[in-house]
Amino acid sequence: MTNTNERAEKGHWWILTALILGVIVGLVVNKTGGSESWAASFQFIGDLFLRLLKMVIVPLIFSSIVVGIAGLGKIEGFGRLGAKTFGYYALTSFFSIVVGLAVVNLVKPGLTNGQPDPEILAIIQNQSAEKLAAAEMKMESATTVGLGVVPDLLQRMIPPNILAAASNNSAMLALIFVALMTAFALAGMTGAPRDHLLGFFEGLNTLTLIITKWIMKTAPIGVFGLIAAIVAKTGLDIFGKLAAYFFTVVAALGIHLFIILPLVLYLVARVKPWRHFSAMRPALLTAFSTASSSATLPVSMRCIQENAGVSKRVTSFTVPLGATVNMDGTALYECVAVLFVAQVLGQGMDFAGQFMVVVLALMTSIGVAGVPSASLVAIIIILNNTGIEGAAGAIAAILAVDRPLDMARTAVNIFSDSCGAVVIANSEGEELEPLRS
Ligand code: ASP
Repeated sequence: MTNTNERAEKGHWWILTALILGVIVGLVVNKTGGSESWAASFQFIGDLFLRLLKMVIVPLIFSSIVVGIAGLGKIEGFGRLGAKTFGYYALTSFFSIVVGLAVVNLVKPGLTNGQPDPEILAIIQNQSAEKLAAAEMKMESATTVGLGVVPDLLQRMIPPNILAAASNNSAMLALIFVALMTAFALAGMTGAPRDHLLGFFEGLNTLTLIITKWIMKTAPIGVFGLIAAIVAKTGLDIFGKLAAYFFTVVAALGIHLFIILPLVLYLVARVKPWRHFSAMRPALLTAFSTASSSATLPVSMRCIQENAGVSKRVTSFTVPLGATVNMDGTALYECVAVLFVAQVLGQGMDFAGQFMVVVLALMTSIGVAGVPSASLVAIIIILNNTGIEGAAGAIAAILAVDRPLDMARTAVNIFSDSCGAVVIANSEGEELEPLRS
């Protein structure tokens, strides 16, 4: 094993220790009172770490894409790469939704003896007026979002102002689009202008990778802050209230993460899945702690290139795009959440209704941003479009247990993106030595 891998291994243990410590300290604070002020201090530490990660996203993504594509000087085969990548996204998202659908229909977390669970119903009906009003407002504004997924994507992709897009972390799709255009144009240029520009982007890329490495050294402190803040604020009591729902989501995510995706890795990419898990550990832990695919992006790009051995060309194309549009965990979650709400409100769905949920979950997961709790809007859109009524209380209740589930689904989102990079790299004939040995 290389030195880099050894260091990554150690980094991963520190992050894991910090995570466990965060849970313990958070619990102690939660039980002994005064959690508000402690939580605020922990949150402050966690926020600083998040800021550091977000700080490098724009230069890292832009320079990686330009160098990864223009650096090789050949852009043939790019259509093929794109088609394969989108094929992977669509298929794995579909698999994940089917897993969610199967598990929620099997467990039926919203029902007891075939009837809406009275305890859960009571929780939903007893939401405070304040929370209900907030959920209702969200529902009303979401109805107008509509389902123009493709036009919406196209609009988000083409920025009216390049500089504004480059200074906006949430305009990721636009950034990728401009970086791809820059890379294609640069690949067609010759002589000094090309060399100067390419040299600049290569320098910028190396520079941001060095800074990312530094930032990752602070990850244990940041992760501790993020986790301790959440646990100090909420404790573990929330699990009790909607336990069946909680464990249904976790079981379905677990099946996708530990069975379906490893099978894809093994059967399609012919690599050892456990090696890939180990390569991706720092990214998985960061995704889990931050609940944000976007913030995890710098870490996943590093893990995929340095630990899994995927080329810069494939990484820089598939991973930023994946973090923005490929969300297996989110798609699965949307499906389980909507069917759970339907069950508990006694508005069970027939096959046609469930099929509609599958299609809508597939489409809306593409548009969900890689930030915490982003799927909530998608869930509301699906509820509105499938005609489920009186769901505001359920939305408020789901929101109360959302954070830990968000952490889990974000880790699945990130892992699926990384598997996509491996599958595409394998199909392009790359060695992927660390994952095969
Ligand atoms: N937090 C998720 C992510 O960043 C999105 C979501 O499902 O809310 O990937």
